[in-house]
Amino acid sequence: MTSELDLRAVVLLLGAIGVLTSVVLLHLWRQNRELLPAAAWWAAGPLVIFVGTVLMGLRGWISPPVSIVLGNGCIVGGAALMYMGSCRFWDERLPRWPWVWLGVTAVALLLLSTVWPHYPLRLMIVPGLMAVVQLAHLQLVWRHDRSSFAARFLLGWIAFSAVALAFRSATAQLEARDADLFTPSVWQNIYLGSYAFSLLGEGIGLVLLAQQRLQQHIRDLATHDSLTGALTRAAFWDAATHELRRQQRSMRPAALLMLDLDHFKRVNDTHGHPTGDRVLRDFAQRVRRTLRATDRFGRYGGEEFVVLLPDTEATAALAIAERIRAQPCAADVPAYTVSIGLTAVAPAGADAPPGVTLEAAIALADAALYEAKARGRDRVVQAPTGTAA
Ligand code: GH3
Ligand code: MG
Ligand code: MG
Repeated sequence: MTSELDLRAVVLLLGAIGVLTSVVLLHLWRQNRELLPAAAWWAAGPLVIFVGTVLMGLRGWISPPVSIVLGNGCIVGGAALMYMGSCRFWDERLPRWPWVWLGVTAVALLLLSTVWPHYPLRLMIVPGLMAVVQLAHLQLVWRHDRSSFAARFLLGWIAFSAVALAFRSATAQLEARDADLFTPSVWQNIYLGSYAFSLLGEGIGLVLLAQQRLQQHIRDLATHDSLTGALTRAAFWDAATHELRRQQRSMRPAALLMLDLDHFKRVNDTHGHPTGDRVLRDFAQRVRRTLRATDRFGRYGGEEFVVLLPDTEATAALAIAERIRAQPCAADVPAYTVSIGLTAVAPAGADAPPGVTLEAAIALADAALYEAKARGRDRVVQAPTGTAA
């Protein structure tokens, strides 16, 4: 069956898509170097693929080793760079040696194919190697994110290209030994066409992923205190109001803690504000170590913090508060203590006390906190139950 597509044009189109993708990713990287170092790798990938397509497009005009070995090397290397970018994106180390050996073997086989022309062999190596890279990339993304739209979009395109490449590698033996990249065949059309499409799709997927990370960062900045990483007062208020209503609707218990560092003014006065800041950070870490993912932790103001514990009865909440209080401080900050006021929030219902608003719960926990301070600090005090309205 003859081809109606000009395969050289398809290869150059593939390169052009690579350049476009690269420009967008490079722009994202330049704007957010600290947050998205991965985007530089992602941008380098399609650019190297573009160089590869130019070298392949010049087949017949430049020496075969350059066109074949370097051209194919750039195409596979570009895909590998995109995979390495994703490793960087999720802070994963790249297992080096298997890749080095795979690369060395591929280059050796490609070199062999220039002195002993055998197109099916080359066709088995190059798409086969790329399918391996794509499968590695696929499982990497899958392990880190399979729920966001960006990740699903990316996964879809990587899977598509992995299947197309593996198929091309598997059907390589159907080609004549003296064929080449531009020998028209329906399989070659499908192979090159689907690769061009999947490069475009993958590029868009990576841009979406980067965009998603930026959005998350901006959301975090708006809702988290920059010193301690705890929720800001407003964000805590929103989250806790929502959570408390949910608990009460489903008749489940919750507890609220108010935490205040003891004699914190002295820490600042004795050791200076920067040390005071380190103490605050250490304390926030201590609290986070103790809490579950569903608990909400906010900075109420200054050295005062607030925690909402969903699905927690008074006794369990008391144990959690005690664990926070009793944890040792980090070695590099002056010793400090904390007082904690606690209130149980009973669910609303016919045979239970009326549901407590967040405001009322905070007032109760605050009163208990004052009690803890009055009794000598460094302790947990529980508010009397059943008094809330
Ligand atoms: P108490 O045991 O009664 O709570 O005494 P305290 O000294 O902890 O309470 P006070 O309210 O008198 O002092 C709180 C201090 O916390 C005063 C303020 O300078 C300090 N502070 C508030 N926010 C920060 C901050 O972000 N960094 C530092 N270093 N200090 C802070
Ligand atoms: Mg204090
Ligand atoms: Mg205070």
